[in-house]
Amino acid sequence: MSELLFIEGGRVIDPAGGVDGIRTVVIREGKIAEVAERVERPRDARAIDARGRWVTPGLVDLHVHLREPGQEYKETVATGARAAVAGGFTSVCAMPNTKPVNDTASVTELVLARAAAAGLARVYPVGAISKGSAGEELAEYGELAAAGCVALSDDGRPVVSSALMRRALEYARAFGLPLTVHEEDPGLVGKGVMHEGAASTRLGLKGIPGAAEDVMVLRDLALLELTGGRLHVAHVSSRGAIRAIREAKARGLAVTAEVTPHHLALTDEDVAGSGYSTDLKMNPPLRSAEDVRACREALADGTLDAVATDHAPHSAVEKDLEFDAAANGVVGLETAFAVCLELVRVGAIPERRLIEAMTAGPARAFGLPGGTLARGAAADAAVFDPTAEWVVEPERLHSKGHNTPWKGRRLTGRCTHAIVAGRVVHEEGRADR
Ligand SMILES: [Zn+2]
Repeated sequence: MSELLFIEGGRVIDPAGGVDGIRTVVIREGKIAEVAERVERPRDARAIDARGRWVTPGLVDLHVHLREPGQEYKETVATGARAAVAGGFTSVCAMPNTKPVNDTASVTELVLARAAAAGLARVYPVGAISKGSAGEELAEYGELAAAGCVALSDDGRPVVSSALMRRALEYARAFGLPLTVHEEDPGLVGKGVMHEGAASTRLGLKGIPGAAEDVMVLRDLALLELTGGRLHVAHVSSRGAIRAIREAKARGLAVTAEVTPHHLALTDEDVAGSGYSTDLKMNPPLRSAEDVRACREALADGTLDAVATDHAPHSAVEKDLEFDAAANGVVGLETAFAVCLELVRVGAIPERRLIEAMTAGPARAFGLPGGTLARGAAADAAVFDPTAEWVVEPERLHSKGHNTPWKGRRLTGRCTHAIVAGRVVHEEGRADR
């Protein structure tokens, strides 16, 4: 454990602190002591040479699936946290669709205990909106909040009953917890397995229209207006949903939203181009080029607050199947930065805005600490080499899940160091502890 750490000579990008320039970050006893242009390093301090690199607040991911308890063959809290720090994420929010569902303090406490034992990324549990995420009865929000949940979600499923959703918003408001919602109308989804459009017609696969997402977002914005409270829309993918969120924000409603790297980078035509690869099957599905353009514009203008990976590891048992039968979801923690950096390179998103959407934006959405390198803040930071090229080899990922749509692809940009509370928890090229 290093008491005094200097990250020297890198381009420090801290949108929350208004810093963008060559600086040295000084970390003392787990806190940011100073971010300065010139500062003398004592001989006993540890140094990281960050010349030619970016130094950012540790990335914050509002949406990951760590699979523990219950599906440890897919991922554990420890392997997920390892994948997180390898990707530069120092804080991740763990979705409750485990087995059992995180709808009680005992599951929340188990996740927190596993995270503490791993000693890697900070893990913030998300509790269930309804008991067993069955959509029938509200979970005990007071118990979940007291145990350490930072938000509530039935992710993987929509809250179908409007009346239950109304009561959930009212009840969560009492504890100051945001509801993070998975928006799809089950009737409109039907047996759909990809976006409804020209590609699905050509491939002969059942489609899911963008309207399946739009109508649920519109409903929940109407309920939010009725109840107050805080709504966070998970994995936004449709331009209709974006239009609704933009309009609601303009009216002052307390809504935030996230978008995944894959919904920013890939379209339904990529499903066709991949030859039905199930590594491109997820929910919501990859949508049209117009939807992708809308997602990029909304991330750039702040309508979408955060990039979140929806890291969803599966084993070959769930994925090596026909497209119709395969499980939804892709891993994303270790590729998110490089995939998003490509958006900067093509001029879709300014680089400082991207870093904000991966640090301060998500931290603000859930009221989490972190997301800044302000003096006195917990020293969570990441160092990236924005020019490092690498080829995605699934078996070399730290995640147990190998279900990545970027398999075999050459990406540019890589995390070289991750620091949590002043401790270097990931260093590229170093063997795991
Ligand atoms: Zn999810």
